[in-house]
Amino acid sequence: MNFIDLEAQYKYLKSRIDKRIQSVLTHGCYIMGPEVQELEEELAAYVGVKHAITCANGTDALTLALMALGIKEGDAVFCPTFTFFATAEVIAFANATPVFVDSNEETFNICVVDLELRIKKTLEEGILIPKAIIAVDLFGLPANYPELEEVAKKYGLKLVEDAAQGFGGEIEGKKAGAFGDIATTSFFPAKPLGCYGDGGALFTDNDEYAELLKSYRVHGKGRDKYDNVRVGMNSRLDTIQAAILLEKLKEFPQEFVKRNEIANIYTSSLENKFNVPLVPERFLSSWAQYTLVTERRDEWMQKLRIESVPTMIYYSTCMHQQSAFKSLASYDLSFPIAEKLSEQVFSLPMHPYLTSEAQQKVLNLFS
Ligand SMILES: *Cc1c(COP(=O)(O)O)cnc(C)c1O
Repeated sequence: MNFIDLEAQYKYLKSRIDKRIQSVLTHGCYIMGPEVQELEEELAAYVGVKHAITCANGTDALTLALMALGIKEGDAVFCPTFTFFATAEVIAFANATPVFVDSNEETFNICVVDLELRIKKTLEEGILIPKAIIAVDLFGLPANYPELEEVAKKYGLKLVEDAAQGFGGEIEGKKAGAFGDIATTSFFPAKPLGCYGDGGALFTDNDEYAELLKSYRVHGKGRDKYDNVRVGMNSRLDTIQAAILLEKLKEFPQEFVKRNEIANIYTSSLENKFNVPLVPERFLSSWAQYTLVTERRDEWMQKLRIESVPTMIYYSTCMHQQSAFKSLASYDLSFPIAEKLSEQVFSLPMHPYLTSEAQQKVLNLFS
């Protein structure tokens, strides 16, 4: 059994994907070829935003977002401590200071109450200037953007949605990628929408940000890439990856339905035994991961491993516990929920090609 089965997906989509790759090989425009623009149009239409701008990976997407927002040294950027390293890494990479926030116990996403506490504390200290929030759609569930948008507005902060895991999710019919001032995603192969290498994208309704992002991703280009009006990066999505993504995006809505069917079966079978993931009313998750919380994690993981059922821990180390951030702060506020989650979560096989027999095998081990 595979934790995420990219092989099964390729087998299913093979003829379509092969054909698309072949047409790139035939026209030979490997960098910023026509498939890149076609994909950007399809992505913008799917997410429901004015601009989709592809780039080299999800980490660069976040870095480009912070560049467009003008984040710099002396700025405080708030982000959850329970996330993948890249969310916090890009803040430090921009020479700003990450201020970590505890999690909501039920959704695993950034706790809005704790966020406001930490914004107030940063303002009181008067050393850093609060500038932005990066919220994460952890495991596929959009963060609480209706409340986050209120907090951002109240304190005059920019809001970035890190939808690396959230692509496909929704709140009240509005798609992940459409929240905040700028949203980002990743096409790393194992994400809900993945390519066959590295890839990423940014989403925004703001024309100015879109222009800046298109410039920053190609060496700060002006008229062309030999007219450089600012210092940028080299962060383009390969044409071949765009071609693959065009075919995968066509299949994505059907895959999204299957992911939700599988998640619902997990939940109805396991909700009496575990803390199962909560999807609040009017929210939809893309189920990048199906994650359980239990004090007996080691025992369960061992039991599944013996029967060749793969499980993973996302994440066993919070950002405030990472060696790279040791020098950062005197943390006088604690992170009880995030630390508990890091000690108690583990994730089950989850992908749209999981057969009902395979899922039943997983579930039988819990009975
Ligand atoms: C995967 C991921 C990223 C980074 O994406 P890459 O394409 O691997 O650079 C950023 N944030 C979160 C929450 C992620 O899961």
